[in-house]
Amino acid sequence: MLEHDVIIVGGGLAGCRAALEIKRTQPQLNVALVAKTHPIRSHSVAAQGGMAATLKNVDPEDSWEAHAFDTVKGSDYLADQDAVEILTREAPDVVIELEHMGVLFSRLPDGRIAQRAFGGHSHRRTCYAADKTGHAILHELVNNLRRYGVCIYDEWYVMQLILEDAQAKGVVMFNILDTNVQVVRAKAVMFATGGYGRVFNTTSNDYASTGDGLAMSAVAGVPLADMEFVQFHPTGLYPVGVLISEAVRGEGAYLINAQGDRFMANYAPKQMELAPRDITSRAITLEIRAGRGVNSDGSAGGPFVYLDLRHMGKEQIMSRVPFCWEEAHRLLGIDAVYQPMPVRPTGHYSMGGIPVNTDGQVRSSIDGLVEGFFAAGECACVSVHGANRLGSNSLLECVVYGRRTGAAIAQYVLNRKFPEIDEQSYLNAAQGEINNLLEQSGTLRIAQVRQALQDCMSQYCGVFRTQELMSEGLNQLKQLQQQLPQVYLDDKDKCWNTEIIEALELRNLMVVGELILTSALNRQESRGAHSREDYPQRDDTNFLKHTLAYYSSAGIELQYKPVSITLFEPQERKY
Ligand SMILES: Cc1cc2nc3c(=O)[nH]c(=O)nc-3n(C[C@H](O)[C@H](O)[C@H](O)COP(=O)(O)OP(=O)(O)OC[C@H]3O[C@@H](n4cnc5c(N)ncnc54)[C@H](O)[C@@H]3O)c2cc1C
Repeated sequence: MLEHDVIIVGGGLAGCRAALEIKRTQPQLNVALVAKTHPIRSHSVAAQGGMAATLKNVDPEDSWEAHAFDTVKGSDYLADQDAVEILTREAPDVVIELEHMGVLFSRLPDGRIAQRAFGGHSHRRTCYAADKTGHAILHELVNNLRRYGVCIYDEWYVMQLILEDAQAKGVVMFNILDTNVQVVRAKAVMFATGGYGRVFNTTSNDYASTGDGLAMSAVAGVPLADMEFVQFHPTGLYPVGVLISEAVRGEGAYLINAQGDRFMANYAPKQMELAPRDITSRAITLEIRAGRGVNSDGSAGGPFVYLDLRHMGKEQIMSRVPFCWEEAHRLLGIDAVYQPMPVRPTGHYSMGGIPVNTDGQVRSSIDGLVEGFFAAGECACVSVHGANRLGSNSLLECVVYGRRTGAAIAQYVLNRKFPEIDEQSYLNAAQGEINNLLEQSGTLRIAQVRQALQDCMSQYCGVFRTQELMSEGLNQLKQLQQQLPQVYLDDKDKCWNTEIIEALELRNLMVVGELILTSALNRQESRGAHSREDYPQRDDTNFLKHTLAYYSSAGIELQYKPVSITLFEPQERKY
């Protein structure tokens, strides 16, 4: 059996930052990091617009309190304010630390780190590296992993969390190269497995964002928090869904409907295009519904609106958001210097996830903790984003809470022994599962069932929701779950068989989808990204609380947990 003091699943910003912190504070610890992609291909690498921190380089009036207020207001008052305070207070320090590691941030003429405007933020505080911020940060972190001697298992797929007697003891994983299955035991297990964008048919997320960590935790008996809160990013490039960063609007781009109007004036007259994402996504959806969307020939009544950069000029477009220009040019042949881009909302980010305290330790219930289990980044819910995340707060969360969780783990494992695990029974079960998949003789292709699931989630649990829609969605999803045993694999080989992974990911997507729909159905109010046409108001009396959803094959059980309100009393949310 493989054995490491700490095993971290996930090589994005959160996992890498945690691994580094552990090795920096306790260099003698044996730390391993597993990722089903190469760490540098984690979705973090695709982050574009930047990372918020009150460095005050552009806006001396800014403060951590203002950042905290914007975050809490953006969250529609569902964020835990003790966690937001930590996030915003520690932000400047983690950015400076990244800079010292060698991250190449964009600069002001005087050499200090540049900062730009972002949606829902009252000051210009987003630090960036052009529109390739995630790329710049992740490369430095991965370089540092090697320097600090972290053991890396890249292109290994973790298929099970070993959780016994309320303690995480390790994971079961296999090498994608040859399907060699291994049990790893550890004194602490950390999940940093990212989001689940692939549960929707249009998403900005990469192919690996399939919610594996969430599903593995749920199946092991850990509750998942606030799964109803799914962020739809306003500007997915139509029809592909690829992200056009909010940085483009931060730099001054307009949203225009078929009549040529800057329609955000009707929805958020003060913040306009820089309103938070939930509000902007609803505005675009309503414009399209009202027949003011655009068709490919430019006529009214179509499925998208325009993102117009033309007034910004070539120099600004090419120096500040070159990657977004390139995406539109490469994918649609559009030259954004002269033509507007077609955009509409796209599935983007998971506000909910594995519930953790501010040290990253996973909660087993409203007031209990799981021994030896930690999580950070997009798969975790600490909760700093509540019902709606502000742009550029996620990279920040990954680094602040990655660092904190790493520090907590380094202390936690010091006096702990390796747990006992019945290795053979886990190996047999995992090998049996893989063999079953290879031998399954069904009639359905993986892609066919996955597409049906993604269509179901997008149609019945999208930007706007109702009881009727979501009930129908849940019915359809349950029927799709019945189809899983009828899926067959074309590839029967054990060498580099990516179909095995797709089959396991599909199962995970089903679990995540059911948790999203069930949590959403039971929240009878509109708050942040969860917008119900049958309950259009926020209802603080009944729903100012976090959902905890417990998964079992018999059904999902819900409990609710209070919100931590330490700084700002809930108010009406206007922009
Ligand atoms: C296009 C795009 C642009 C964005 N831009 C910004 C931005 O400008 N600012 C901002 O703040 N946020 C942005 N975000 C959000 C932000 O990038 C993510 O929330 C964040 O990077 C997530 O990091 P992470 O470390 O939690 O996970 P990820 O970077 O998603 O990494 C997950 C890791 O887990 C591994 N993994 C998952 N499942 C398994 C398994 N079963 N076995 C083994 N390994 C597994 C993967 O291989 C990967 O290494 C953007 C997101 C997208 C999609």
